[in-house]
Amino acid sequence: MIRKFISRVLGRKAPGHTGDPSVIPHSKHGIRRDAISNGSRRTVETLQENGYKAYVVGGAVRDLLAGIKPKDFDVATDATPEQVRQCFRRSRIIGRRFQIVHVMMGQETIEVTTFRGHHGQQDSHRAHTDEQGRVLRDNVFGSQKEDAARRDFTVNALYYDPVAETVVDYHQGLADLKQRTLRMIGDPATRYREDPVRMLRAVRLAAKLDFAIEQATRRPIGELAELVENIPPSRLFDEMLKLLTSGQAVKCVQQLRTEGLHHGLLPMLDVILDQPLGERFVMLALENTDRRVHEGKPISPGFLFATLLWHEVLAKWEVLKSGGERPIPALFQAMDEVLDVQAEKLAITRRVAGDIKDIWSVQPRFEQRSGKRPYALLEQPRFKASLDFLLLRAESGEVDAELAEWWSDFLDADGETRAAMLLPQKPDEKKKRRRRKRKPEQSAPAETPQ
Ligand code: ATP
Ligand code: MG
Repeated sequence: MIRKFISRVLGRKAPGHTGDPSVIPHSKHGIRRDAISNGSRRTVETLQENGYKAYVVGGAVRDLLAGIKPKDFDVATDATPEQVRQCFRRSRIIGRRFQIVHVMMGQETIEVTTFRGHHGQQDSHRAHTDEQGRVLRDNVFGSQKEDAARRDFTVNALYYDPVAETVVDYHQGLADLKQRTLRMIGDPATRYREDPVRMLRAVRLAAKLDFAIEQATRRPIGELAELVENIPPSRLFDEMLKLLTSGQAVKCVQQLRTEGLHHGLLPMLDVILDQPLGERFVMLALENTDRRVHEGKPISPGFLFATLLWHEVLAKWEVLKSGGERPIPALFQAMDEVLDVQAEKLAITRRVAGDIKDIWSVQPRFEQRSGKRPYALLEQPRFKASLDFLLLRAESGEVDAELAEWWSDFLDADGETRAAMLLPQKPDEKKKRRRRKRKPEQSAPAETPQ
């Protein structure tokens, strides 16, 4: 009581120096027990029945309090992974660096994490860092208090107990949530050095939640922006994908630019934002992605990255063609070069790279609207995505709107209408086809991408 009074009079307690957490009753936080998924509630109940502490934690609690539907529900506990596994018949331990348990509840998979220790507090627990301060290994179990301190933002360090219907708050996260503020736990610069992904998370979460980034949290970002270069490519790919499919891609990308997080660091964003010709295309693509997310439609990472890099491909393609290379081989070479440059920073998975190439390689074939070729194109594995891509190109003014309309109509038309839509073959095209028949190897690249 007295402590609460003092802290109210003195204002915020310094982060990291708080003692006991606030335990907030339902009347103050308002999260309804049935707002969390059945699976996560049953997981928490089972762990508690077995004598362990267990909470729904992280993004789900934050999103519920902010009035957003959570994507998934993670559980944190003081039980070790082995102990968790013993509580659930359908569960398995995954991960090497830091083990977590996947608990299967009906259709749901709940990720259960043991409280993690806050590295650096005790010498024996000190995390291994690289020369910039990035944490390389961080795999000690800890207390709930330590677990809260190693999370990134105060609003991400809230623990919801659906049995007691309380929220446990070590860092005044609820107050920040109410003030719509994203505040780093601990010293922001140190926390960014430990893990530069946090700079990107700050931007993404502020855009997603429509929160302001608190001043001290924001200030070091400009200075430390170059540390983004140290992020391992696979993490960067995951984080970029989250950012671009957040439903706030346009806002996120604009904010990254404002914070100086795009320049020279993320080749992908460099490409997007510093290319006036491509910018319109990319912004249309991001708006389109945001709209799809809001409509609950799926987003294909391949499509997304294909749009982001298209103008880079176009530029390289032009150079190669004007150097005398034939158009189709030149396109394939340009595609490979662009993807290779990205691969150094961003681990685009093989499957996604395959999707990207399928979409790109089909684009010149949309120009052919006579004979049998349009029918063959309809049979391409990613025809629909490739057509959506063509529609975006038309909308941005890169190709004629008439071309994209023709293809949309052709797709929807019945057999007779399709036949009537075909354009007459140009005389020189007929000649070319005859010549190709004599030398079949010349037509191969256009028909068989890859
Ligand atoms: P969203 O799921 O909307 O992307 P999230 O905050 O839930 O956002 P997750 O990656 O699911 O993000 O992480 C779950 C929780 O783990 C976070 O809420 C935060 O407490 C903690 N966390 C995630 N990434 C970091 C990080 N880089 N540094 C410290 N804590 C982190
Ligand atoms: Mg999450």
